[in-house]
Amino acid sequence: MSPAATSRLERCRGLLGGLGVDALLVSDAADVRYLSGFRGDDTTLLVGADFAFICTDSRYWDEAREEVDAFALVEVRGDLLKESVGALRSAGAQGRLGIQGAALSYASYRAVRRRHGGGLRDVGEAITRLRAVKDAGEIAVMRRAGRVTDEALAAAVADGLVGRREIDVAWRLREEYHRLGAEGEAFPAIVAGGAHGAQAHAIPGERVIAAGELVVIDTGARVDGYCSDITRTYAAGEPTDELRRIYEIVLAAQLAGLAAVRAGAHGRDDVDAASRAVIAAAGYGARFGHGTGHGVGLEVHEAPGLGRTRGDELVAGMVCTVEPGIYVEGLVGVRIEDTVLVAADGCERLTTSSKELQIVD
Ligand code: ZN
Ligand code: ZN
Repeated sequence: MSPAATSRLERCRGLLGGLGVDALLVSDAADVRYLSGFRGDDTTLLVGADFAFICTDSRYWDEAREEVDAFALVEVRGDLLKESVGALRSAGAQGRLGIQGAALSYASYRAVRRRHGGGLRDVGEAITRLRAVKDAGEIAVMRRAGRVTDEALAAAVADGLVGRREIDVAWRLREEYHRLGAEGEAFPAIVAGGAHGAQAHAIPGERVIAAGELVVIDTGARVDGYCSDITRTYAAGEPTDELRRIYEIVLAAQLAGLAAVRAGAHGRDDVDAASRAVIAAAGYGARFGHGTGHGVGLEVHEAPGLGRTRGDELVAGMVCTVEPGIYVEGLVGVRIEDTVLVAADGCERLTTSSKELQIVD
């Protein structure tokens, strides 16, 4: 049994008492993978004080037998949730069951409620938060994901930007991730020039990048399941003084946010506040509508929170982003983002691409 899987299962078991449940039904796919090592979908885990089951159908039985040793396989032949509840019954776990409300459809919830007599409790993010602090193996993989992301981004802009369609730059990133041995991209890349960049989550399209525009590129590789997340804003040709000034404000805000990241700092009160103060002081407070950052791991957005509305205390070993931006409708978007590892006395950047404004023709 791998030590990581055993200790993760034990940490999950350790939640039972505090949550006031006799067993947990894990249906979030990233949590299933984290706890068991299993990579398939349509799978649940059941965790009680003296049992641990993985419930999946015949497509995955071989994989579950080979890769998952901390959980006993329940061979599902029909309905996943019905048979998961059946496995609980045969284990004698008839008491209150913790479920993950955000990872269970309403129909599935009803199916579980109908069949499980012991009552249900939504445990929210309790299980998901077990993933927030990364172990040494995860950190090594995330360092690699950061390097792959840096390298792919450099290659994608090395061909120049002026005259290329946004979707072609986005496609080039995917090719690079494939060439560099990543599983793929962690999320669909954003490539947005000029006024299009003012939409923080712009979808790259047929739009051709023109000289004089700033171009926002937000992308990340997925390596061994783990995500990276970077944003750089490039100048396609010589920018105006106004655009340069906006870029410098965002860069100062990002550096202020990074300087605030350390174990014990608070995602909202320290990191978000530090970035936001720089942008507000420059008169662009109303143009920064999103949070300063988010946790990264098996999912590109996970705990901890580093925003205005959601913040957590940072702990050494957490991985998060710092990504302030300024968005001026009809003119420009600028965002600068790094993925960083929280340490006792600061942070280590996992994405290290240059942040000097690069002029790419
Ligand atoms: Zn991003
Ligand atoms: Zn991000």
